[in-house]
Amino acid sequence: VTNPSDSGAVDLGAVLETVRSEIRPYFGKGRVASYIPALKRVPGDKFGMAVALTDGREFRVGDAAEAFSIQSISKLFTLMLAMSTIGNEVWRRVGKEPSGTAFNSLVQLEYEKGIPRNPFVNAGALVVLDCVLQRTGERTADVIRDYARVLSRNFSVDYDEAVFASELKTAHRNAAIANLLRSHRTIHHDAEQLLALYCRQCALEMSCLDLARAFLPLAHAGVSPSLQEAILTPRQAKRINALMMTSGVYDSAGSFAFRVGLPAKSGVGGGIVAIVPKHCCIAVWSPELDRSGNSLVGTAALELFVQLTNLSIL
Ligand code: GLU
Repeated sequence: VTNPSDSGAVDLGAVLETVRSEIRPYFGKGRVASYIPALKRVPGDKFGMAVALTDGREFRVGDAAEAFSIQSISKLFTLMLAMSTIGNEVWRRVGKEPSGTAFNSLVQLEYEKGIPRNPFVNAGALVVLDCVLQRTGERTADVIRDYARVLSRNFSVDYDEAVFASELKTAHRNAAIANLLRSHRTIHHDAEQLLALYCRQCALEMSCLDLARAFLPLAHAGVSPSLQEAILTPRQAKRINALMMTSGVYDSAGSFAFRVGLPAKSGVGGGIVAIVPKHCCIAVWSPELDRSGNSLVGTAALELFVQLTNLSIL
């Protein structure tokens, strides 16, 4: 492993095998998310990792082709959709700073007059979804699903109805956030309608391979190499990566940057998507979470991956 700028210099297949064998001691140290009842049923010992490179090559290991609940990673799809449809209006309604509080906190939102700190805390994601809804109306759930399908090149990507129903039934805190946003007029649609759509977007099921393909444009100045199409402008891709770096991994952006040094977005289903600008998109999945809600094994796997490849951007 010598020159990270030459993607041909590193045998990524061998790197992924090494990562898989070295992360074994980390299993059993975290906990599978249980606040969404349907997520509790997922076996904690799953592990998959996939890498999609801008030059078209792909590598994967373990359960990389198995679909799982992407949860908060879906916030990337809605942010990409909002930025490419309504553009800068998004930034009049949601901030760009790390929150330093839990992803589902109400306190900060009340203090800051209903303007969420960033698009990745739940309040921010609800506002972003409200922006998308403004453009796509009743078709919004289909638009988000089809966007995920086209970008991942997998037309069987869909919502997991059991996870959706299970989250909606227990979404009391997110309901409170949606209502608080509505009372501050930061969202324009009905809180109940928005909450149901939000639970639906979080219930998208995708594999590591799907995710690595879908978010590759973020590593490639907004262009999808497989579709040969600009999904975002280079500036929009840079901005999303910046927000992932500062706010993509709940309130552990500092320690995640310290260990991994890549822009990333995680979800409580145990998935993490990380971007190496100009080079590749990495997706990892392992359901046991650390205290901040990030995949414990997934974070360790990414840390090891950047050590072995020198691909950290820091
Ligand atoms: N649907 C989850 C929630 O809003 C998403 C959590 C996450 O993955 O961060 O609570």
